[in-house]
Order: sequence, then C-alpha cells, then structure tokens
Amino acid sequence: MRIGILTSGGDAPGMNAVIRAAVRVALGNGIEIIGIRRGYTGLINIDVLPLTRDEVSNIVHTGGSILESSRCPEFETELGRRKAAESLAHQGIEGLILIGGDGTFRGGALLAEQTEIDIIGVPGTIDNDVYGTDFTIGFDTAVNCALQAIDRIRDTARTFERVFFVEVMGRRSGFIALHAGMAGGADSLVIPEEPLGVEDICRRLIEGHRLGKKSAIVVVAEKENPGYSYQIAQEVTRITGFESRVCVLGHVQRGGNPTAADRVLGTVLGAAAVEALTEGKKGHMVGMVAGKLLYTPLRDTWEKKKELNPRLRELMQMLW
Ligand code: ADP
Repeated sequence: MRIGILTSGGDAPGMNAVIRAAVRVALGNGIEIIGIRRGYTGLINIDVLPLTRDEVSNIVHTGGSILESSRCPEFETELGRRKAAESLAHQGIEGLILIGGDGTFRGGALLAEQTEIDIIGVPGTIDNDVYGTDFTIGFDTAVNCALQAIDRIRDTARTFERVFFVEVMGRRSGFIALHAGMAGGADSLVIPEEPLGVEDICRRLIEGHRLGKKSAIVVVAEKENPGYSYQIAQEVTRITGFESRVCVLGHVQRGGNPTAADRVLGTVLGAAAVEALTEGKKGHMVGMVAGKLLYTPLRDTWEKKKELNPRLRELMQMLW
C-alpha cells in the first residue's frame, strides 16, 4: 500500500508530531508513505518526497510543518481538484492523510467525490473550531503562548494601574480567548459567540475599581480583523476615563515548540489516521473525544458547530 500525507492551511504546532507518528506507523506496517509539499499546491504540481524514518527524526519538538503549507485557490476549482486526483492516481497513492482545519476538510470532501482514493483528516489548527474532537492539534500551544503574554502584561498592568486589552487569535470562535482568559484571570472577554458588550466591560471595570482593583485585563478574539481591540479600548477609555493599552499578539501564537499535550494528541491522531486507512475507513476525520478516538464524517466537521464549554463561560461571568 502507498499513502500520501500533507499539511494545509494555517500551520499549527504539533503537525510534525502527526507526520512523525504517521510515517513510523506506516513504515512499521510495510506501507510506503509519500510526503506532499505545501498542501494542495504540491498535490496539483506533484511536489513530493518519499518519507523515511530519518526524514522525521528530530522533528517532534518543532513548530510549523516539515512538509510546509499553503493556501491553494486552484484547488477550489473543479479543474484544480481533477488535476490533484490525476496526480494521486499517477503516483499510485491509495490513501491520503490531510492535516489541517475546516477549509482543508472542505477541499478534501470535494476531492473525495472526484476520486476513489481513501481520505482521512487530522484536525490541525490553533483555533480549535473543528467539530468532532475536544481539542485540535496546536490549540494547547497557542493558549499557552497567549497565557504567557497575559502573565507578562499583568505585571505591567499592575504596576501602572492600567486596563490592558490583549488580542488573541480566533476568526470565528473564542476558544483561545476563553481558555487563555480563564487561565490568565482576565476580567472580561470579547468573543465572536457573544455580542460586543462595551457597557458590560465598563461596568465591571468601574465596579472593580470601586472595590480596589488596580488594573484589569480584557482578552479579545481578533475575529476577521486583527487590531479590532484598538477601537474597543478607545471606547472603554472614553466611557470610563481609565487609561488603556492594547497588545495584539498576532502570529507569535502560531509558532513555537508544541506543548506536551499537542505532541501527544498529534502522535495519537497521526497513528490513528494510518490505522484507519489500513482498515479501509475513508471520508472521516479522526479526533479525540473524552479520551477516546472518534471518527467523524468530514462534512460534519464544518457543518456542525463545536460549542464553547458552557461551564467555562458561566465561570468567566462569575470570577471577575
Ligand atoms: P484551514 O484548513 O486551516 O481552515 P484554509 O481555510 O486556508 O485553511 O483552507 C486551506 C486550503 O483548503 C485552501 O487554500 C484551499 O485550497 C482548500 N479549501 C478551502 N476551502 C475550500 C472549499 N470550499 N472548496 C475547495 N477547497 C477549499
């Protein structure tokens, strides 16, 4: 058997742990495994390399992806996907592992309709906005990165008696904001799941000040427009009179060494993806829910919405 593996869309720490595990499990089972460079771009252009044990040595601790990634508009066209399907057939690839987020899976589901090749998805994105797994690979590292920043900013916020707005990633979901905000003891959150409540933020700041709080931290999910928190900070300062500062974390949250949790999750899911292909499973994403492997139809991974943990949201309302 010959299978392919690629990383696509936004990179996430832990993707290399997936590749390493997939390669070693595949080779251990006598399966040839081909790395496809730069996601769907390499699939269309046949930019590939056979993966060996050596190729995946010394990568488990690294961020990014040794296979690199890309956004590939050509793959969004039927012609582009036909080229990709032909390229897979030409190389004799019978199964394909896709590591990425919902965009990657949308493309993968369409490709599956145009080819006989078995496709298995592995959730790799820092946003955690993929249905069918409690956590995506890279999320824990991104949360810890944001948390480190919040902890550092707290020192300055406390010293200067200021309100700090820390902007974290999260296009359509507040997972990073909620988890980093809770762990970092944030006073308020601004997340896409809730309408922006400037009055509520101000009310908490004023009440906190009255109770003797010297500083405050508001964690904001960037949504579609990084820098979104500048306007919120201005509005809050206008209403409360408190001096505010903004820190936009941006792409630092994407990189860095994966945490132990992301390496373990990546390893388990990478191995499971190969095993799924050997068992003839296809058109599914492998995830981990309540400590158990779960296979979710690719289409459900973006059509069904993964909700934020309601208990964490409730606690955020109580703990400021
Ligand atoms: P992620 O997988 O991290 O969500 P993107 O949304 O950028 O990243 O998607 C990665 C790639 O998947 C895109 O560059 C494109 O090639 C492919 N893709 C995304 N959405 C679609 C779609 N609706 N149809 C076909 N291909 C898609």
